[in-house]
Amino acid sequence: MSLTSAGGVNIIGGGLAGSLLAILLARRGFNVNVYERRPDPRHFVADAGRSINLALAARGIRGLKLAGVLDEVMRFAIPMAGRMVHEHDGRAELQRYGVRPEEVIYSVSRSQLNRTLIRAAATYPNVQFKFRQLCLGIAPGRNTLEMRDESTGGIYQTERLPSIATDGAGSAVRDSMVSLEVSDVREEPLDHDYKELTIPAVKGKPVLEVNALHIWPRGGFMLIALPNPDATFTATLFLAREGSNSFQQLKTAADVEAFFTREFPSARVLMPQLTAEFFENPQGSLGTVYTRGWHVGSEVLLLGDAAHAIVPFHGQGMNCAFEDCAELVRLMDQHHGWAGLFEAFEHERRPNTDAIARMALENYLEMRSAVLDPDYRRRKKEAEEREKQDPDAIPRYSAVMFHPEIPYRDVLELRSPRA
Ligand SMILES: Cc1cc2nc3c(=O)[nH]c(=O)nc-3n(C[C@H](O)[C@H](O)[C@H](O)COP(=O)(O)OP(=O)(O)OC[C@H]3O[C@@H](n4cnc5c(N)ncnc54)[C@H](O)[C@@H]3O)c2cc1C
Repeated sequence: MSLTSAGGVNIIGGGLAGSLLAILLARRGFNVNVYERRPDPRHFVADAGRSINLALAARGIRGLKLAGVLDEVMRFAIPMAGRMVHEHDGRAELQRYGVRPEEVIYSVSRSQLNRTLIRAAATYPNVQFKFRQLCLGIAPGRNTLEMRDESTGGIYQTERLPSIATDGAGSAVRDSMVSLEVSDVREEPLDHDYKELTIPAVKGKPVLEVNALHIWPRGGFMLIALPNPDATFTATLFLAREGSNSFQQLKTAADVEAFFTREFPSARVLMPQLTAEFFENPQGSLGTVYTRGWHVGSEVLLLGDAAHAIVPFHGQGMNCAFEDCAELVRLMDQHHGWAGLFEAFEHERRPNTDAIARMALENYLEMRSAVLDPDYRRRKKEAEEREKQDPDAIPRYSAVMFHPEIPYRDVLELRSPRA
């Protein structure tokens, strides 16, 4: 079947990548069925505790633009010009992300973004969302997916169409591909977990600079905060699971109180609900998923976190997943069959996703520690000066965040002020 003529495609997972991909495929004339395990997020409010807001940068913006939804997203996106680094003694300094005024990243609400993408996709008559449909994996016979209707408990198989699995970091489709020995997976869990907390507004006003990503770096761990449109900030604590200064040691309200007062005094005073929230909100785990073998013939392809989940320290997981969507449709112009397309997609993307996986891990060190180092700051300033004088002297961070024309794998060759 030609990839340019109308046909059908199943998308498994109507999260960020799945809903963006639905739009891009609908615009090319495909009939798209999106199977999503959760209820319709247009009619319910998402649970707290799972990355409430995300940093959107140029690679994600490019995907949103291609889908014609960028203007809508920009209505609730908050520009962040740099990192506001909060030192232990209460001093705070803004380290700008870019050298040009337009080089900013944006804080966006995950649920609002997902709803916006689903609403936009649903305006196409050739897109159908099927909510509360849980994928159990590839069905025997390998050419359809086994599903469970969560409202009735009924088990059925999807129509026999090419299926693109965007079912996230814990992908059931990927698990079944591993069982079928089509894919190899290496999961590298991080020994640090995260917990989301709130910095509320006071009398409706934000208590921190709005146009910045705030970091309280403490060497081995850190607290960060991103702005929300309602003048609150969502803070995230990244901390070792075990050992000294770890989640394991924060067992009681007194432990949490003492830890925050000692390590983050300037943030502690802005968090009146700290101890209650700390025990109410889940402790999330993080890690990198490296997969080889992203497709089963012309039947199934993994895309986004399902193929390559990464740690969040470069703010690139969603951006990379959106770039995946844009790249897949770009490659459609060069291929006439799904198997060839799927193969080319992995060939093209895996070196890039491996590169961002590595840079994301390295950036944890940069955020929690290097930003405090005077030598790092000096090198960063020097790099900025070089870039101002020679626009081709792009430092690594800028290349990742602001230069989607440079593939991630080529970004690895560029200098980082850490080096
Ligand atoms: C703490 C944290 C902070 C982050 N911050 C950033 C950031 O600042 N910037 C950034 O770019 N990225 C960030 N990320 C990464 C980003 O969240 C992911 O990379 C992005 O969500 C990947 O999109 P996806 O569509 O592949 O997966 P998801 O967004 O996880 O979507 C998967 C979808 O599939 C559905 N699903 C799952 N299993 C099934 C099943 N079996 N059957 C049917 N449906 C299923 C889920 O309900 C969900 O809707 C962060 C991640 C974390 C954990």
